[in-house]
Amino acid sequence: MTAGFIRTVLGDTSADDFDVVYAHEHVIIDSPLIAAAFPHIHLFDEEDAVTELSECRHSGVGLMLDAMPCSSGRVIDRLARISARSGVAIVAATGLHHDRYYGPLHWSNRVSVDALAELFVADLTEGIDLFDYASPVIERTDHRAGVIKVATSGEHPDARDRRNLEAAAQASVVTGAPIITHCEGGTGAIAQVELLNGWGVAGSQIILSHVDKIADLSHLRDIASTGAVLECDQSLRQADKGVASLTAQAICALVTEGFGSQVVVGTDGARRSLWRSLGGEPGLAWLATELPLILTELGLDVSQISAVMGGNAARALTWKCAPTPSRTAREYP
Ligand SMILES: [Zn+2]
Repeated sequence: MTAGFIRTVLGDTSADDFDVVYAHEHVIIDSPLIAAAFPHIHLFDEEDAVTELSECRHSGVGLMLDAMPCSSGRVIDRLARISARSGVAIVAATGLHHDRYYGPLHWSNRVSVDALAELFVADLTEGIDLFDYASPVIERTDHRAGVIKVATSGEHPDARDRRNLEAAAQASVVTGAPIITHCEGGTGAIAQVELLNGWGVAGSQIILSHVDKIADLSHLRDIASTGAVLECDQSLRQADKGVASLTAQAICALVTEGFGSQVVVGTDGARRSLWRSLGGEPGLAWLATELPLILTELGLDVSQISAVMGGNAARALTWKCAPTPSRTAREYP
């Protein structure tokens, strides 16, 4: 039995409950900005998501991390219903995404680190706002966030990035919740880890998304040396390449070099063209059914593959300590 718990939208659970974990998913992305500016990732329909996730469930997927944080298209009541109906447990995110999902005038760019951290902590410990922090009215649901998402824009975090990272760190230190980051184009991971470490977050609590967008082994080795968790999510888009998939090869190389406990996988399947339920290919279940076969062909053994496919992510999503629901960031100096 692993100590600690994983906080899903339907309640707390144990890392031992899951064999296959998708560590960077997009189940619902629905906001006016997304519909207008990014229609190819506008995922709004509950029925489609239930169909897609049910197929994943039948393929062994037990848990998914939904990577849309505050005010970026997160719809918490829909997410909870999709989880209940599909049987796939879902960890929802608080935090803030890349600037392109908000624009320069967004409220989140005009408030303090403490104010942001307080909102993140409330999502984590009390319940995610039904209106996604997009309305002056806040109505907390029973569905709490289980991870803090934060994004940077390049190798060197700018002022917005730093402020959001600091707020994420504050919320993580207060609650024990893990952090998942967005590395734009695969960049920025090491700077993120250095900053978060400086604010008290351990490497094992940091999941770095999209690092395999730069599938260069020396780059990935440098990141792995920080002790943080590398989330590789490009293999679905390389589905037709089989053993020639750069991501599959990078995963293999990292495991072989001794970083086998730090690699997790996801689909980052936000594009509608990847969902079978929407007429796309190969479908989100591909990762659970096909990637293990490719990794086997590349030489990994059963225990190495099971760590990459689920064990590592379940551990990384486990909170460090039990939070006290009434506490807020402001009560902690
Ligand atoms: Zn994503």
